Amino acid sequence: MNRQTYRENIDVCSDSHVRWLCCSRCTHILCRLDQDWRAASKRKLFPPNQAGPLMNHLNGRYVFEKLYCPSCGALFNSEMVEAKNEE
Ligand SMILES: [Zn+2]
Repeated sequence: MNRQTYRENIDVCSDSHVRWLCCSRCTHILCRLDQDWRAASKRKLFPPNQAGPLMNHLNGRYVFEKLYCPSCGALFNSEMVEAKNEE
């Protein structure tokens, strides 16, 4: 089995037939390479000012989204996204 770095804390694993994405810390398999690893991640939303008080003006319009490994909690990604009134 081969492993290559895909992005921070995520590796591409492959054997002769398939390629998939896994956590580089705990090797938890997220999804196949052609699937959405974001959907397979554990997602938490924070108010923007969690990133710093300068972000106060973004509260209500944006949320600070963090994506983690559902198994070991390694941080895959954090970014500011537009707030959707989902819940
Ligand atoms: Zn992990």
